[in-house]
Amino acid sequence: MIAGEFEFCAPKTLAEALALLGTHGSACKLLAGGMTLVPVMTLGLAQPAVVVSLNHLSGLDGVEDAGGVLRLGAMLRHATVAKHPSIREHLPLLAAAAAGIGDVQVRHRGTLGGSLVHAEPAADYLSATATLGARLCVRSTRGERWLTTSEFFVDVMTTALAPDEILTAIEIPKQPAGSGSAHKTLRRVEGAFPIVLASAAIGPGLAPARVGIGGVGPRPVVLDVADELRRGAGDAALAAIGDRAFEAAQHALTDLNGSGAYRREMARVYAKRAVTAALANLRAGGRS
Ligand SMILES: Cc1cc2nc3c(=O)[nH]c(=O)nc-3n(C[C@H](O)[C@H](O)[C@H](O)COP(=O)(O)OP(=O)(O)OC[C@H]3O[C@@H](n4cnc5c(N)ncnc54)[C@H](O)[C@@H]3O)c2cc1C
Repeated sequence: MIAGEFEFCAPKTLAEALALLGTHGSACKLLAGGMTLVPVMTLGLAQPAVVVSLNHLSGLDGVEDAGGVLRLGAMLRHATVAKHPSIREHLPLLAAAAAGIGDVQVRHRGTLGGSLVHAEPAADYLSATATLGARLCVRSTRGERWLTTSEFFVDVMTTALAPDEILTAIEIPKQPAGSGSAHKTLRRVEGAFPIVLASAAIGPGLAPARVGIGGVGPRPVVLDVADELRRGAGDAALAAIGDRAFEAAQHALTDLNGSGAYRREMARVYAKRAVTAALANLRAGGRS
């Protein structure tokens, strides 16, 4: 049960939602899927005076093909990201990341934008969007600004979003046709949050060749692994990529799921697994 009283607003337009945020500022919380916000309010960890639902707005859950990029609405549910034909065709890595999030209920309520704003370091979308070079559009009554993932993700569960801003869209360059992708996660059990994860995207001709690692520090780390793979895609290249992942995870945090040292070792293992699987997928022409 949520103990504290709050005002609930369900605006129909983005302009109304922005005006409410502009008026109430940090006393206000946006509600997207509620998969994180509701438990946090139930535990009393957040006690907003005003909750503004984004669930009645139109125009925040679209998938727009804008030439070289897909523009995704922040209110897209994980289940839609996993199944949408354009996302599966042009951003197979993102679709794979979405498909493994939580359980059926979480995937049908939780949203792309809510997950990115919550910025849990081991969330599936963080490493995937960073690997894919996403840009995020945030709006307020003051206007609009675009941020890269390295600008947006600031620290553990902390983003560059101001209290009066809404994340409205995520723009992601299409993966080249025939790309190989793989999203590999270490979870205790099916449906549990990842502990460490790696997202690899490898295009034909190794353009691009990247692996993003999550759960090993406050923000995702992206490695360009084209140089290693150009020397051959054998054990030596994979070992070198694993070593780089281990180094990049030097600030891995310790919590009840595992020590920093364990996470560093898992960064090595999962980076290699993701790159191996992405190379196999590349050889299959990107078909899963
Ligand atoms: C049982 C369970 C298992 C889960 N497993 C996984 C998992 O395996 N992998 C994974 O990555 N995640 C997992 N999650 C988290 C899930 O993906 C959530 O959906 C996500 O973290 C929050 O998204 P939401 O849409 O529910 O946001 P909400 O809970 O509604 O909001 C989260 C925060 O973001 C803010 N916010 C939301 N949307 C916007 C916006 N557009 N602009 C500005 N601020 C906004 C809210 O004010 C709030 O502070 C799990 C959650 C649960 C409950």
